[in-house]
Amino acid sequence: MDTERLLPDDAGYDRASQILHKGGLVAFPTETVYGLGGDARNDMAVARIFEAKGRPRFNPLIVHVDSLETAKRYVTWTDTADRLASIFWPGPLTLVLPLKDDTGLSPLVTADLPTLAIRVPEHPVANALLRRFNGPVAAPSANPSGKISPTKADHVSKGLSGRIEAILDGGACGVGLESTIVGLADTPTLLRPGGLPIEAIEAALDTTLEVHKSDDPLSAPGQMSSHYAPSAGIRLNATDLADNEMLLGFGAVGEATMNLSPSGDLTEAAANLFHHLHMMDALGPEVIAISPIPDRGLGRAINDRLRRAAAPRP
Ligand code: AMP
Ligand code: MG
Repeated sequence: MDTERLLPDDAGYDRASQILHKGGLVAFPTETVYGLGGDARNDMAVARIFEAKGRPRFNPLIVHVDSLETAKRYVTWTDTADRLASIFWPGPLTLVLPLKDDTGLSPLVTADLPTLAIRVPEHPVANALLRRFNGPVAAPSANPSGKISPTKADHVSKGLSGRIEAILDGGACGVGLESTIVGLADTPTLLRPGGLPIEAIEAALDTTLEVHKSDDPLSAPGQMSSHYAPSAGIRLNATDLADNEMLLGFGAVGEATMNLSPSGDLTEAAANLFHHLHMMDALGPEVIAISPIPDRGLGRAINDRLRRAAAPRP
């Protein structure tokens, strides 16, 4: 794939927005770092974000929107959210709030959690793109997993050229640090330090923030829930089927109840993963048996998630 270099002018925004609407990926500047953007409602686009970055895990992504009004469509708003957003948005602050029902967002964006991380970026190029696209954009930093976050378009092309459709070149990012993430689904909690100083947030709330020490959001306050695992048992690497089991297939397996990807495509399997697990679970089997999934590329993230689902319940 040739990665297009777009300029922040009318033609560039139109093209970037068109690519996003078609499920393609566009890197764009924010005031923190360059983000790797995809339509947050499109399962395949979000799966491709993980694939392009080579992420070994489906950790939840931050959704970027054009305004506070748009954010309220996706999350249950609170007084505390209102206070922080009215002071610090647009800006390098991400709020984690309860996800509303039927938002149309891909479950891959939230890693199937009942909460959503959302922010309104301040960078004029990010803002113009979000307004032109007129929809929610999921965007982690635009670098291969484990590499340094990019603050210039050239950093993005070094890491991701050939893996994404376009880079919107908006010059160097101002802050150069990721957004500060505050969880508000429970007691206000600092989930990740970043570009907005914690002191400013504490002053605005007139209280101290709790600090979440693990970088695993699945263990963050308010995140443990029935969403963590299906109510059916899970058996991995199944090549046969017991009486109390239903098969969630991958590749050319004949008798599967559902199939993550009959053609063995890992991106399609990732896009289907949470949808299929929910649908199979609703059928009420004692155990969902799952075909072997190759442990490469997105298969590593799929297997990581399935191992968690198969782990003994707390
Ligand atoms: P990145 O994808 O590099 O921008 O990082 C996004 C950060 O947001 C990660 O540290 C995630 O763990 C965190 N995050 C996103 N969504 C949630 C959520 N629902 N709950 C807790 N943390 C989240
Ligand atoms: Mg990152």
